[in-house]
Amino acid sequence: HGQDSLLELRGVRAFYGAVECLHGVDLTVADGEVVVVLGANGAGKTTLLRSICRLVRTEGTLRFAGEAISGRSTYDVVRRGVSMVPQGRGTLADLSVEDNLRAGGYVRRDKQVKADIAYWYDVFPRLARRRSTSAGSLSGGEQQMLAIARALMSKPRLLLLDEPSLGLAPIVVRQLFDVLARVCAERAVAMVIVEQNAALALDMAQRGYVLEAGAVALAGPAGRLHDDESVRRAYLGY
Ligand code: ATP
Repeated sequence: HGQDSLLELRGVRAFYGAVECLHGVDLTVADGEVVVVLGANGAGKTTLLRSICRLVRTEGTLRFAGEAISGRSTYDVVRRGVSMVPQGRGTLADLSVEDNLRAGGYVRRDKQVKADIAYWYDVFPRLARRRSTSAGSLSGGEQQMLAIARALMSKPRLLLLDEPSLGLAPIVVRQLFDVLARVCAERAVAMVIVEQNAALALDMAQRGYVLEAGAVALAGPAGRLHDDESVRRAYLGY
């Protein structure tokens, strides 16, 4: 990593008003790589994703696809190929499934939006069956699938996922991770996944980071984190 990383954070500090919540975070993501971020509540995981999307004030170096993004707007970063699925889904409840997908393709300039909606209906058959249903009346699992498909409609090179499995039944969580793995393989999208479900996330990821109180406490290959004594105790429960 380093020079040719898709995403590179060096010494990133993030602020809510005068309060510093990230204290010099280094993190890289290579093209097509899946990175998991673990950490207790309040460790700064959401703030990390918000820093990348330019939704919070930061200091330090943030680079995406070889260019500095620290001074960029959220719109600009999205247009460059970053897409986020916020915690709590963020679908447009009053719009139909199909209109949510169309809205997700809004920043695109190519004419493949229709073909891409068909692709996502193939990946998520349940969404196809409910294409005219308003997003607000979908089940939690369907809404999460829609939020992910919608985020991917912008054809991102990097997808940021904030606790995608939160509140979903175990079987739905497994389907969700299967779908993410498929998307990763077929679309070569890099991902940063903030996840409480550490076992599933580490299975899918190549590397991981543990955040503690706004700083990186541990980083390394997913397999090594999986075997780490403190990670097992805190996040894997054995
Ligand atoms: P969780 O899993 O609970 O979402 P997290 O690891 O994502 O936790 P963050 O939400 O990034 O943690 O929060 C990091 C720190 O920033 C916490 O101390 C939190 O209280 C603080 N914080 C988060 N959002 C704001 C905000 N809008 N204004 C002020 N402080 C905030």
